[in-house]
Amino acid sequence: MKSKRPRSHDRILRLLDAQTRALSAQEIFVALRERQQALGLATIYRALDALKLDGQLQVRTQAGESLYSRVTQPDRHHLTCLQCGRSVPLDRCPVRDLEQQLQQSHQFEVFYHTLEFFGRCKCCSAAASQDCAESS
Ligand SMILES: [Zn+2]
Ligand SMILES: [Zn+2]
Repeated sequence: MKSKRPRSHDRILRLLDAQTRALSAQEIFVALRERQQALGLATIYRALDALKLDGQLQVRTQAGESLYSRVTQPDRHHLTCLQCGRSVPLDRCPVRDLEQQLQQSHQFEVFYHTLEFFGRCKCCSAAASQDCAESS
């Protein structure tokens, strides 16, 4: 019963697949035009909404603006140092079991989750951080 994907959805998904960061609707509009695949802004908004409800896109709000990216498989979580900006990826998802539980206990289909840890890394915490100079 899967209907064929509209061309607008295809264009947006392919565009976002090629991105390393999340884009706003406005940026998607501009990027598609540069690729000679222009879509109207209203069409883009409609497509983004449909893709989001389909669990294919992840939305993050930053400074009042919605940013869209593909749902990443497998999901990645980071420890981000507020001082030096270094961000360390975790090698596994710490909440996968919780997600399973929630799906069952709430009869809720989870498409994705976000989880980030912020603080200060070892190097920035150390008063004399000579062993953490540029490396790692
Ligand atoms: Zn740091
Ligand atoms: Zn996760």
